[in-house]
Amino acid sequence: MTPAPPARAAVAVLGSANMDLVAYVPTAPRRGETVTGTAFHTVPGGKGANQAVAAARAGGAVTMIGAVGADAFGTRLRTVLTDAGVDTDGLRTTGGASGTAHIVVDDAGGNSIVVVPGANAAVDALTGGDEARIAAAGTLLLQLETPLPGVLAGARTARAHGVRVVLTPAPARQLPDELLAATDLLVPNEHEAAALSGTSDPERAAVALLSAVPEVVVTLGAAGCLYAARGADPVRVPAPRVRAADTTAAGDTFVGALAVARGEGRPMAAALAWASAAAALSVRREGASASMPYRREIDAYLD
Ligand code: ADP
Repeated sequence: MTPAPPARAAVAVLGSANMDLVAYVPTAPRRGETVTGTAFHTVPGGKGANQAVAAARAGGAVTMIGAVGADAFGTRLRTVLTDAGVDTDGLRTTGGASGTAHIVVDDAGGNSIVVVPGANAAVDALTGGDEARIAAAGTLLLQLETPLPGVLAGARTARAHGVRVVLTPAPARQLPDELLAATDLLVPNEHEAAALSGTSDPERAAVALLSAVPEVVVTLGAAGCLYAARGADPVRVPAPRVRAADTTAAGDTFVGALAVARGEGRPMAAALAWASAAAALSVRREGASASMPYRREIDAYLD
């Protein structure tokens, strides 16, 4: 007899949805200069939307709380989420522009980026139905690309309903004590971990962060990740070796898959291996959310 499939993990995501506008140029323009680019792509993203798509493709029942503008980008961002199976009833449409990131990539691989939050700025509080969306989830995923008051409101609500809070502290910034106190699992990359802890050694950073939160996973790119919990020695989990085509949104893929695996009741070690496989699969392919693997691909990769 085949074992019954696990109950689907219910995941709520509160965060950003952005359209990345990416122009490729031989050399980035200086002030007052116009240059001719070689290519242009629009790439749906934003850490909130990326984590929502990652969790949904990994098999979670996902609801997204956020905002897009009343423009073509907003329509496309919503479609990307619904195509992945994400419930977008909590994704508001505001009057203004959608969030955008204007990215110029030069031939040396360097980039410069202007982020215009647009509709994401409206996610500064919970609105009708959001509390119920969070309360119905097992896990709430938070990041820092939407205003802090909204992130705090989400964390507070999750705490009040016994919902596990997973925080990706990106972009790195000082975190209020109240947010850390409501966080069950903090998932910084090594730069964010260094910024938050003041030490660039990931193991020391993770241990230092345990004074604020009970569990920490520091992601280390191709080197995998480091898991630390109070009362136990930190554990390193290697990443599968893959040929990296595009590491955009690797961290978001990792967090989305980790939330699903933990939400299904998998032990942390197994969940970290599964999330590492999901992230490795995503870096093998070009794209942000478009490169994220489906559950069957993650399972097949580990077989
Ligand atoms: P972020 O994208 O947030 O900066 P990282 O670069 O640390 O985060 O990547 C997140 C996770 O994605 C890593 O912990 C690892 O599991 C996986 N990953 C990233 N880059 C690679 C790579 N080149 N090969 C295999 N796995 C990778």
